[in-house]
Amino acid sequence: MACVFCRIVKRELPSYIVYEDDKNMVFLDIYPVSKGHLLVIPKEHYESIHDTPGKILARTWLLASILGKIYRVEMGAPGVNIVTNSGSAAGQEVFHFHIHVIPRWGRWTGFWGGRHRLSEEEARDVLDMWSSKKELIVKGLSEI
Ligand code: AMP
Ligand code: ZN
Repeated sequence: MACVFCRIVKRELPSYIVYEDDKNMVFLDIYPVSKGHLLVIPKEHYESIHDTPGKILARTWLLASILGKIYRVEMGAPGVNIVTNSGSAAGQEVFHFHIHVIPRWGRWTGFWGGRHRLSEEEARDVLDMWSSKKELIVKGLSEI
């Protein structure tokens, strides 16, 4: 199995998991552009937004929206980018559909600026931030 994100789903590769259920998984981007940069994926493999069935697409975007709202409302981020890349010409590097949720804490560094390697300490901090938010996520998802 060559797909990196499928391997993360199967626990063949390590990741910092913020949330998961039977359909979706949320984990930390290993090269975050800001503290808390998340990747939201369906567990099933689809190459991009344009290969993903509507029901799964809707749930994955709803989940991304919920996470973004928690950053804005619960954690005080003044802005959030929620984005997906479709095709290598658009910068897609991993061909398993994913949505980037990128909280902005105040200083605009350009869209992909501020990228750095995720440290263990930063990862632990972000997991801490999310440790009490599972109920809010589940509640939001119950809307569909
Ligand atoms: P994209 O350019 O939209 O395909 O984004 C792929 C993202 O996946 C990039 O932001 C990478 O930093 C991230 N990424 C690649 N491999 C891993 C990994 N093993 N764990 C976490 N994030 C990863
Ligand atoms: Zn995959």
